[in-house]
Amino acid sequence: MSGPPATATTVAAVLPTAGTRGVLSPIGGRDVRVTGGFWAERARINREATIPAGFAQLQAAGTLENFRLAARSARDGYRALGIMFDKPFPFLDSDVYKWLEGAGWELARADDPAIRAMADEAIGLVEAAQRPDGYLNTFVQVLTPGNEYRDLQWGHELYCIGHLVQAAIPWHRALGDDRLLLVAERACASIERELGPGVSEGIDGHPEIEMALVELYRATGERRWLELATTFIDRRGRGWLGKGRFGRGYWQDHLPVREASAAVGHAVRQLYLDGGAVDVAVETGDDALLDAVHRRWRDMVETKTYLTGALGSRHKDEAFGDPFELPPDRAYAETCAAIASVMLAWRLLLATGDPACADLIERTTYNAVLPSLSTDGTSFFYVNPLQRRTHRTWLEPGEGQRAPWYACACCPPNLMRSIGSWHQMLATTTTGGGVQVWQYPSAEIAAGDLRLAIDTDYPWSGTVRVEVLDAPADERTILLRVPAWSASASLRDAGGETGRRDGASIVETRRWQAGDRLELSLDVSPRVTLPDPRVDAVRGCVALERGPLVYAIETADLPGGVDLEDVRIVDGAAPRDEQRPDLPGRTTGLAIDGTAAGQQVEVQAIPYFAWANRGPGGMRVWIPRADS
Ligand SMILES: [Zn+2]
Repeated sequence: MSGPPATATTVAAVLPTAGTRGVLSPIGGRDVRVTGGFWAERARINREATIPAGFAQLQAAGTLENFRLAARSARDGYRALGIMFDKPFPFLDSDVYKWLEGAGWELARADDPAIRAMADEAIGLVEAAQRPDGYLNTFVQVLTPGNEYRDLQWGHELYCIGHLVQAAIPWHRALGDDRLLLVAERACASIERELGPGVSEGIDGHPEIEMALVELYRATGERRWLELATTFIDRRGRGWLGKGRFGRGYWQDHLPVREASAAVGHAVRQLYLDGGAVDVAVETGDDALLDAVHRRWRDMVETKTYLTGALGSRHKDEAFGDPFELPPDRAYAETCAAIASVMLAWRLLLATGDPACADLIERTTYNAVLPSLSTDGTSFFYVNPLQRRTHRTWLEPGEGQRAPWYACACCPPNLMRSIGSWHQMLATTTTGGGVQVWQYPSAEIAAGDLRLAIDTDYPWSGTVRVEVLDAPADERTILLRVPAWSASASLRDAGGETGRRDGASIVETRRWQAGDRLELSLDVSPRVTLPDPRVDAVRGCVALERGPLVYAIETADLPGGVDLEDVRIVDGAAPRDEQRPDLPGRTTGLAIDGTAAGQQVEVQAIPYFAWANRGPGGMRVWIPRADS
């Protein structure tokens, strides 16, 4: 059996493509193209199914209609499927913005007249709803006019504008369309007038505007946006928001951002805040701020992260639990928290070059972001527990199934923008022109004049073939990440073994020529993972993993009459590969010797991301050992 990580010891949406002081530089979206395999299929589903379905849901839920109401200064008719503190949800505008961001990234990959028509309609509504003074929030405009920036604790006004800014980025940067950017700049000017330096001490109860303002600075070159972001980071942690319903830690207002040592409170809030703090640190050269976030991130990864990369074990306040409080069945593990974790890890990777960040991006993407989406791409999980007891199948039949939409629909459009932009996190470059490959889909990557093609059946295979398509005359370094889960790694070229192992990477420096080929071999053989003994809820259990994937067992794969809760793994048994033509796409399952109620059974496991696509039933990632 292999060693622990119970807490995965081993984290895009908006990409800081102009980060000026980080160790690594991102490669713009146009210079990275997924060419086939696992991720090409995810992109196809996002484009053909998920994004169109999302638009239909925004129409049906009335979220788009609210912009029409605001545009004509209506005072009633506000549409919301959910209630918070006796009022309709105030944050629904962000669903439209996140959808527009996802649509923008997909259109940047390739034009699509249907998506473009939907996006044009949505952009027109957003433009029309903005007041002449730049203010934009349909909830306040329709339901509580006069209350602008008065309910910073719960109103989510800055949070929504943050998502508007992020939506504007792909349209500006990749499509050359500045309609949303102009709306976003006017909205941010309105925030600056009310809450800017020297005007007031206010901060938003839900961080998000910080990352967005830094990106707006990168897009426009206007330093006022970086200063406003820095102001919001500096103001936080001084108790301005009060205790609210869940205490100061809930919205990270308990300690200054530079001083807090642990990730606490509402998981998405903490992760968006830290993403913004990294952005500010990189642009202002604030190493102390960067170090504070990196330290907090390491503590979170080591003590508060599920094996899947998921975050948040408390349902009540959507919060991180205590260290090692990681129950699989009661996991909250919100899809948005996993997405936010990927966004933060990407920023930290660029800022520090820490390869553990790329490991966490991989683990979290495959095992905490993708599981939220159904195979057909049109239904979604909000929470992503690692265990579902069989009896809940008839107690609460809907709970274990993905839903086409949610009253609080933060997760589905967040997923759309993430899948639409994930390929931009595959590789980075450095000032010398070298390229660092962090993730392994089949793709073409251009790092300046060094152009590579990657061909692989990853994540099912650990063989990654790299071909140089174009190269400059001088020496360049190609770095390939070796994931922490791979027990071995080797690099070969036509002459045999090559490359130099450097920590969590293999690097090779030379004068490259078009046609040069490298082959990276990673060890994706299936493995048994033991939990950290401090995670009480899974003591005596093991998990099955293969390459970057966490596996789960499901009722649908058990022999008739066997209860999922009775299944045990025989101690010392080794999992073996098993092709699963019954599942959509190419899927490698696992099989391992087990027992159930005293009988020997072959236990079959499937990738956790594929669970809950075959009707109601039980599921578990952590499986008891037979001798426990
Ligand atoms: Zn969410």
